[in-house]
Amino acid sequence: MSTIPENLNAILARIDAARKAAIAPASETRLVAVSKNHDADAVRPALEAGHRLFGENRVQEAAAKWPALKAQFPDAQLHLIGPLQSNKLKDALGLFDAIHSLDRLKLAEALHGEAEKGVKIPDLYVQVNTGEEPQKAGVAPREALAFVRQTRDQMRLPVIGLMCIPPVGEEPAMHFALLQKLAREARLARLSMGMSEDFETAIKFGATDVRVGTAIFGERKIILETSEG
Ligand SMILES: *Cc1c(COP(=O)(O)O)cnc(C)c1O
Repeated sequence: MSTIPENLNAILARIDAARKAAIAPASETRLVAVSKNHDADAVRPALEAGHRLFGENRVQEAAAKWPALKAQFPDAQLHLIGPLQSNKLKDALGLFDAIHSLDRLKLAEALHGEAEKGVKIPDLYVQVNTGEEPQKAGVAPREALAFVRQTRDQMRLPVIGLMCIPPVGEEPAMHFALLQKLAREARLARLSMGMSEDFETAIKFGATDVRVGTAIFGERKIILETSEG
């Protein structure tokens, strides 16, 4: 079995190769190492190997795991990639350097309220439900442009990009292409798309942030039962 640092290096090499093969890659592609459902002992080897950008999908799990890791590695960056409930907002603002799941107006309004109080708002990505799946979070593609105008231009929130999770079992390329088109129309520079199975395809369509978990840390074990979704 390969080690976590070996997996990391292999993924970084594949990102590099995919960028070289792409006709029009983004000016950079960052690797968000998704450490959800892996405990601090699994994450530490990645930090020790020099990796600094991580993703978590639950506020509560991140709050239990990351303060100690950040104390040891103060320049580590943590991104929230999962749904954010309004009652977890304040905890999230203290923990995360970016939120990839701005998925509804109510959350934007709560963020705006915090900003008015002088709280620093992290970089935000609008999650777009490219497959228009009823059970999935995100703004509908046809509403994405208006939502960006409202949140970035009117509320002055730091919206820097779009994010999507393609439907399971569908060809992801058309979803990545749609997200890229919407980001161009909205004049947004960043695209959070691509996971273990499809990050190379996402890079072809200009991904700036690929979110890779299993291919680095292995299959997830459940380490925390939380009340969150
Ligand atoms: C878990 C998760 C990932 C990582 O998925 P892998 O298939 O393990 O690479 C990426 N994005 C989101 C939103 C996730 O919840």
